[in-house]
Order: sequence, then C-alpha cells, then structure tokens
Amino acid sequence: MDETARRLADLRQRLDRAAEAAGRDPAQIQLMAVTKTQPAAAVATAVAAGVSLVGENRVQEADAKKPQVGLKAQWHLIGHLQTNKAARAVALFDVVQSVESSRLAQALERHAAAAGRQLDILVQVNTSGAPTQSGVAPGEARELVQFCAAQPHLSVGGLMTIGALSADPEPVRRSFRCLRRLRDELAAAAIPGVRLDCLSMGMSGDFELAIAEGATLVRLGSALFGPRAA
Ligand SMILES: *Cc1c(COP(=O)(O)O)cnc(C)c1O
Repeated sequence: MDETARRLADLRQRLDRAAEAAGRDPAQIQLMAVTKTQPAAAVATAVAAGVSLVGENRVQEADAKKPQVGLKAQWHLIGHLQTNKAARAVALFDVVQSVESSRLAQALERHAAAAGRQLDILVQVNTSGAPTQSGVAPGEARELVQFCAAQPHLSVGGLMTIGALSADPEPVRRSFRCLRRLRDELAAAAIPGVRLDCLSMGMSGDFELAIAEGATLVRLGSALFGPRAA
C-alpha cells in the first residue's frame, strides 16, 4: 500500500471513530481530498485509493490537473472565486462551495445558464469573524441563500465554513456550532428550492471536532498528502 492509501485508511478510521463517538452514522460523512499545491499524480493516486471528492482552491490548478486525473472523482471549488473566472469554474467544477456574495452568484448563474447546466453550490459563511477569512457574515447568510435559491441554474445544497484558526478548541467549536445552527434555522424556514443536507466543515487539524458538531463533509489536505510546500 502506498503512503497516500495508508493515510487515507487511517483517516477513514479516525472519521468513523469520531462519528461513532458523536452517535452518528459514519456513512453520512464524506471525505474530500484537498489537492491544492499537489501534483496531478498525487491527485490520481488519491482517486485510485478510493477518494471520490477532490477539492481545489484555484481554478487554474484544477484546469491543469483535471485532464490528467480524469472524471472518476467529483471536483469541488473550495477557494475564493473572482467573477472573471466564473465561466471557467462552471466548466470545470461539479460543485462550487465558496459562494459568498450575490455578485458571484449572479456570475455563476449567467455562465451556468449559458452552459445549459445546473450548478450545485454551497454558501460559504465566515463563522470565525476573522477579517482575513472568506464567507458571508452569519447574519447575512439567509439573504444570500434566498438569492441563490432564486437563480434558476443554481442549486443550493448546504453551507460551508472554515473554522477559527486557533490552537484552542473552543473558538473552533463555536465556528462549527454557528454553521450548524444556521443550517437548522434555514431548514426551519423551508426556503423553496433549498436543500441544506451538506455541512462542509473540518480540515486536517479539526475534522473530529467538526464531526462532533455535525459536519457531513470534511476537507482534508495535509493529513492525507503530508505538509504542503509553502
Ligand atoms: C487548504 C484547505 C483545506 C485543507 O486544509 P488542511 O489543513 O491541509 O487539511 C480545507 N479547506 C479549505 C477551504 C482549504 O483552503
């Protein structure tokens, strides 16, 4: 077994244990390989080892790697997207997890309509309040979800966040809890056309905490591939 397959098996075991400790069904939690800065060969190895979700932060990186890796995985955009790259993002990605403004949603709608496809999206929420982090403020999330739901070629499937970047687990937990509560509030509001099944939260350093707080998709980079070159 190669290193990536070994790490993947180990991570799946940790995921299962975290789910069981939270009284949750591990089958309800998806594992995404975050492949930013990794060469196409590393992505292909992860897919061959059984990864079915690939997350990239940049349109250009997916553009370069996707033809070499093929279509065996779903590709998700998880990084900041500029509106001038929206057309390419629509062509490359199955899901855009990082929708954080109505302006970006409008650009994606326009290009999805032109491409004749339905684009699955998540609304990214800044749950930590850190000014350096992407995402709509929690208090504005409902309006953005409603706006996206009104776009005929966008399908809202849930919410995404990056937890507080802190060594102290409490602020991290608060971030994840904030996203889950927001999901519950929005679900209770029953906005037509909105599914809120997906809670994308948790990375290499905090995914077990995210699972305890309700994550349905965890995004793992360094724990799967080793540390990234800076
Ligand atoms: C880089 C990144 C990840 C993965 O981070 P690791 O700590 O390497 O697991 C997850 N989500 C987003 C949005 C990222 O940018």
